[in-house]
Amino acid sequence: MTADGHFKVPTPVNEPIRAYTPGDPNRKTLKSRLAELTDARTDVPMQIGGERRWGASKSDIRSPHRKELSIAQVAVGARKDFADAIDAALEARRMWAATSYQERAAVLLRAAALLAGPWRDTINAATMLGQSKTVHQAEIDAACETIDFWRYNAYFGDQLLTQQPSNDGSAWNRLEFRPLEGFVFAVSPFNFTSIAGNLPMAAALMGNTVVFKPATQTLLVCHFLMELLNEAGLPPGVVNMVSGSAADISEQVLAHPGLAGIHFTGSTEVFQGMWREVGQNIDRYRTYPRLVGETGGKDFIVAHPSADPDALRTALMRGAFEYQGQKCSAASRAYIPQSIWKDLRTELAEKVDAIPQGDVADFRNFMGAVIDGKAYAKHMGAIQFAQKSEDAKVIAGGKGDDTVGWFVRPTVIETKNPEFKLLREELFGPILTIYPYADAKYEETLDLCDRTSPYGLTGAIFARDRGAIRKASETLVNAAGNFYINDKPTGAVVGLQPFGGARASGTNDKAGSFLNLIRWTSPRTIKETYVPPVDHRYPYMDAE
Ligand code: NAD
Repeated sequence: MTADGHFKVPTPVNEPIRAYTPGDPNRKTLKSRLAELTDARTDVPMQIGGERRWGASKSDIRSPHRKELSIAQVAVGARKDFADAIDAALEARRMWAATSYQERAAVLLRAAALLAGPWRDTINAATMLGQSKTVHQAEIDAACETIDFWRYNAYFGDQLLTQQPSNDGSAWNRLEFRPLEGFVFAVSPFNFTSIAGNLPMAAALMGNTVVFKPATQTLLVCHFLMELLNEAGLPPGVVNMVSGSAADISEQVLAHPGLAGIHFTGSTEVFQGMWREVGQNIDRYRTYPRLVGETGGKDFIVAHPSADPDALRTALMRGAFEYQGQKCSAASRAYIPQSIWKDLRTELAEKVDAIPQGDVADFRNFMGAVIDGKAYAKHMGAIQFAQKSEDAKVIAGGKGDDTVGWFVRPTVIETKNPEFKLLREELFGPILTIYPYADAKYEETLDLCDRTSPYGLTGAIFARDRGAIRKASETLVNAAGNFYINDKPTGAVVGLQPFGGARASGTNDKAGSFLNLIRWTSPRTIKETYVPPVDHRYPYMDAE
């Protein structure tokens, strides 16, 4: 027997952020879990159709701030594994699509509660160790944002189902929210554990099954996320985690006729490559794949002469250097009026040079290491480029140290050239380039900011003058999908500031909102007529 009821997903609230201050018991348990994982060299197999698999070979992943420390042994999959992952997703699809929304949402809500409670230390510690996040950065991302994604999406998806057409009395019109016809490919970046938690699960919530390829650097925490989801009751085959060469996995997955969608977050270049490949394969697919990608940014802060200099300085420091500037939303260029810059310059440089940086297990640090040797070389190259350039001056930082880990000092560069390369290109590191502008040229500077880079992700205006705020909002209307007034351009919270940008920054489908969930459903309209007509003739055809 089945019983019916209109169930409502509980109204979500944002997960409170733990402070981990000295003496806080949560600090002690987290530190002890961090110490355990540091010594554990965890095994990280793939998970395909519920089976743990090692694939062709194994490799090590290392901690960015202790580059000799192997934190996990991870599976390197081969063609057969990737084919099996697609098959497992397609096989599980029938069962999962037939599972009610309420039951699917229940898995996410239980997962959120497990993460808020017994799994919190593990997920935070694995993120600190694997991605070199400080305790605060791990807490707001790996714990709170992941929990918020799962809770809010369960709620938003429920609201989506209530969107129904009108009825005129002759029929009952209904909208059914079907999963896409095929499987979804979820590909996540290194920099946010919450994105790894969200990309596969947003699609799965709407009834889809998924081949999930996390960034290699995050495999330790993704292994624990998968174990947590298993414990929450996610059936085998709904999310199939694969690892190995991204290009090989992608080539195989994108060539499959059953590809129904891509949920991607990462660099613009990789997303554009995937889009191109989908285009080339377009006649193979059973259905047009949904392409959802959140990609790069060259996020800005513009200050007006009426800005509060202390608020501006704090936003520059937190916005540019938290998590080593490796946030898609990190402030990496700023336009500051010369009247403010003349005093701010020295103060900012002194404060930036005093930022404590090192092993994130030492809670006194504000910054850890950048993700790997490739990132380190790229950032040091950009800094050296600025040091050699006649257009620029490095006024803080400018150094790196790769003896123990990949440490790049937070760096501030001042330039007199508004077209300077480092004002245009995404670096994804702790490097902030500042263009001091003549106070009288505020409006021209807004235009300059708008046209200087191809991205459109986040940006901020600092001003007390209302007219200046209005002008910035208007001129920069397409320059950022997340626009901040008197706040730093990072730190979007699920349910409060839906996140995403357009231009070269992505498809702007706003992660953690109903706008994103819409992409993972293919609605069917049903018209059920009460009394169907029984004569094909219309009255106008009657004789005069
Ligand atoms: P990346 O593009 O190098 O990697 C992202 C993912 O794509 C990884 O899983 C990687 O293994 C995979 N990948 C790499 N090559 C591939 C290929 N040829 N085919 C298919 N998949 C491939 O990005 P990253 O270094 O992990 O992350 C940093 C980038 O992500 C930055 O550009 C940043 O701005 C962006 N990002 C954007 C957002 C957003 O919401 N807009 C959020 C976080 C990160």
